[in-house]
Amino acid sequence: MNFKVKWLRKLIQIIALIILLLPIWFTGLIWYGTYISAEFAGIDLTDPLTTLEITLASRAVWTPLIISALPLTIAAILLGRIFCSYICPLNFLLELIPIKKKKKLQTKLLPAVALAIVLVLSAILAVPVFNIASPVFALMRVLIFGVGIEIILFAMVICAAFIWGQKIWCRTLCPLGAIYGLLGAKRRLAIKVDEKKCIKCGRCEKVCSMGTSPLKNSFADAFTCTNCGDCVDVCPKKALSYSLKR
Ligand code: SF4
Ligand code: SF4
Repeated sequence: MNFKVKWLRKLIQIIALIILLLPIWFTGLIWYGTYISAEFAGIDLTDPLTTLEITLASRAVWTPLIISALPLTIAAILLGRIFCSYICPLNFLLELIPIKKKKKLQTKLLPAVALAIVLVLSAILAVPVFNIASPVFALMRVLIFGVGIEIILFAMVICAAFIWGQKIWCRTLCPLGAIYGLLGAKRRLAIKVDEKKCIKCGRCEKVCSMGTSPLKNSFADAFTCTNCGDCVDVCPKKALSYSLKR
C-alpha cells in the first residue's frame, strides 16, 4: 500500500484539534491557549496577523508580543502555509464536506488585498478587526466555548463553499492565509516537480483545492499553495515530492 501524504495530514489535523480542546478538560498541561495566542512549554506564541492587528490597533509596539510572534513567523517563512493545510480547524471541516470542487472566483492575490484592508481598519478603528470577525477564530471559539452568535460567520463560509467550491474562503478572502502566504512565498519546503517523470496529465492541477498547481511557479501560485501534498498523492508518475530548497 502506497503512503499518502493525506493520511499524515489528517492525523496532524486531528491531533491539532485535540490539543486545542484538551485544556477545556485538563488544566496544567504543557499547552494552554488557542490558535490566536498560546503558551507551549513556557514559550509564548501569537499568530503574526493578530500581532500586527494589535500593534496597529493599540498604536504601540509591545516587545513581548512581537517576540511571541517570531516562532510562527519563522515557521511560515521556512515551511509556508502549513497552518492552513495542517492546523486550521476551518480547513479541516471544509475538507470533510463532500463538495464538488469548483474553480470559480479564482483571484489568487485577493486575500492579500483583504489582509491590507483588515490592517488598515484595525489601525483606524483601534480594534483587531479580523480577530473579531474571522470565521476561523469564530469556529475555534464555538469549539471551545460553545455556540454563540459567531456561528453565523462559520455558516457563511459553509454556504459560500456550497455555491463556489470547497475552499472559496481560503482561496479568495482569508487574510490569515494571506499573511502566511506572503511570509512563505519564498519558503524552504516546497513541492518539487521532476520534469523527466512528468507526463503533463494535469491531475495535480485538477486535485488542487486551492486552484493552483505545483507546475506553476509565479509568485501568486507560491503565495496560494498550502504545501498540503494532495498533488503529490495523485501524481501517477511519482513526479512530485516535498523538497527542501537551499
Ligand atoms: S500529476 Fe504528475 S505527471 Fe501529471 S502533470 Fe502533475 S506532475 Fe505531471
Ligand atoms: S499545489 Fe499541491 S501542495 Fe500546493 S495547495 Fe495545490 S495540491 Fe496542495
